[in-house]
Amino acid sequence: MNIILLGPPGAGKGTQAQRLVERHGMRQLSTGDMLRAAVKAATPVGLQAKAVMERGELVSDEIVSALIGEELDAMGPETGAIFDGYPRTAAQAEALDGILGQRGRSLDHVIELDVNEDALVERITGRFTCANCGKGYHDKFEQPKVAGVCDKCGSTEFKRRPDDNEETVRTRMAEYRAKTAPILPIYETRGIVSRVDGMADMDQVTDAIEQVIAS
Ligand code: ADP
Ligand code: ADP
Ligand code: ZN
Repeated sequence: MNIILLGPPGAGKGTQAQRLVERHGMRQLSTGDMLRAAVKAATPVGLQAKAVMERGELVSDEIVSALIGEELDAMGPETGAIFDGYPRTAAQAEALDGILGQRGRSLDHVIELDVNEDALVERITGRFTCANCGKGYHDKFEQPKVAGVCDKCGSTEFKRRPDDNEETVRTRMAEYRAKTAPILPIYETRGIVSRVDGMADMDQVTDAIEQVIAS
């Protein structure tokens, strides 16, 4: 199974991808996470991407598509893939078809998380993750069960993204509207798009996604 989670920053892609990984043993392929790892390791890709990400603009199609290809090659052919934050442009959507085809894979579902833009700034500015295992949290919507301790791994270290501020989020939302939303019609003509209400509770969103992938 190969699925794309599509939606603006803060829509809940990462949250839902983590749940699918736990429930179905699928693999989350987040180009945002891959790029942040490259920035941290100061690789040539990371050095190129850092300032672009800080501004909330898009990194080049060639870079992110190469990262996706490498990550797929590191997985077993039977492992399902959840694309989170990729593709983000028409060129990436086209590249993904080639990348999947070369590996005997094809897209099963494109799941659009439909959200109200007004909610996104609050979601993004309250977002934090476990510094050890990466589990996602929110100051208001998903606090650790024991304050200051990760539910999943017990770590007491958390981190926030430098680009999770209101100004950068506005740029990221504009990039989504201009470059990412327009790729939906490509998938609509193939009949593989499902729309899920991303404003619902996290558990309800998960249930709706489960229904799509069971169909
Ligand atoms: P994305 O990967 O699409 O940018 P995230 O999954 O990181 O979004 O979610 C952004 C923030 O909003 C996180 O802090 C997460 O805990 C929170 N969040 C995710 N889904 C919901 C939801 N359905 N309701 C309320 N908050 C949510
Ligand atoms: P979010 O989950 O909030 O939507 P991501 O973690 O997916 O954000 O992406 C963070 C940043 O990394 C983006 O603002 C962009 O600069 C870069 N990025 C991630 N994925 C891509 C991609 N597929 N194409 C271009 N840039 C990307
Ligand atoms: Zn943790």
